Amino acid sequence: MHPVRNMLPIALTAGTVTAVCLGILTQPLTSAHAAEPTPTTTATPLPEPDPTPTEPPISTWPSSVVVGKSVKGRTILAERLGNPAASKVLLAVGIIHGNEKAGRRIIDAVRKVPVSPTGDVQIWTIRSMNPDGTASTSRRNARNVDLNRNFPTGWSRKTTGAGKSPASEPETQALVSFMTKLRPDATLIYHQDWNVVLGACNIKTRPYALRYAALTGLKQESCRRASYTGTMGTWFNSSFPGYLLTVELPGTRKVTTKKVTRWRNSVLTTSRELIDLDPTPVAPEIDPEPDPGPEPTLTPVPLSQR
Ligand SMILES: [Zn+2]
Repeated sequence: MHPVRNMLPIALTAGTVTAVCLGILTQPLTSAHAAEPTPTTTATPLPEPDPTPTEPPISTWPSSVVVGKSVKGRTILAERLGNPAASKVLLAVGIIHGNEKAGRRIIDAVRKVPVSPTGDVQIWTIRSMNPDGTASTSRRNARNVDLNRNFPTGWSRKTTGAGKSPASEPETQALVSFMTKLRPDATLIYHQDWNVVLGACNIKTRPYALRYAALTGLKQESCRRASYTGTMGTWFNSSFPGYLLTVELPGTRKVTTKKVTRWRNSVLTTSRELIDLDPTPVAPEIDPEPDPGPEPTLTPVPLSQR
């Protein structure tokens, strides 16, 4: 096979200014079959801002793209289902914390479902944006950074595991760059093991969080949790018109095949509702459970208990 790298020139828009400052846009999108050799990402000077957007539209992207590499050089791959010319885009990311792997089963299930090549929605999936952490079953990446504290909006050096600077990690840079270009209308990112859909306490994401909780059978957020710095959700929801939901699946023992099938269907329904102007509302049950409490980076909890 002759690998052909499909370089995607960079369009400089308001949403990419932060990325340019961080050198993120020196990482090209490449086709999945052009993973070798590894693109140079550190020695290349930052490009001068180009006032004329020249980036090819999503419709011209290959169905598999390498969005970046991990610290140890593992590929972060995104795959598309459905119509590349569709106007609505859903992105689902199976894993960000490497010891919370249940979401990957949802991604694998979604990828087996045919999505209409002529419909108006395309679904992009990433099995893990933290492949080093996934390989070692550790929450953080190979430099011991919590990627969900490393995103550039609201980043704080005081937060444990936040990294040395906003989007300091190649995995974070990869997703910032990819999502800035993709501009998904809806993003679903999976964690464990709170059994709750977060986002009900944010006025922007609330209706989507309540709907997704109803679809999945997960609980809705009870709005008493602490807030976190540098999260993917804060970055995306404050930077783009689309919404991102942080989805906390239950513990692995409770992740049955039946539930994975339901959660797969929830992804597909959510994608269809991006083009359905009048979805049927479903009122989820009120969560009677106490708040699950802060995540372990604020109140350290041994990984063995997560
Ligand atoms: Zn997590």
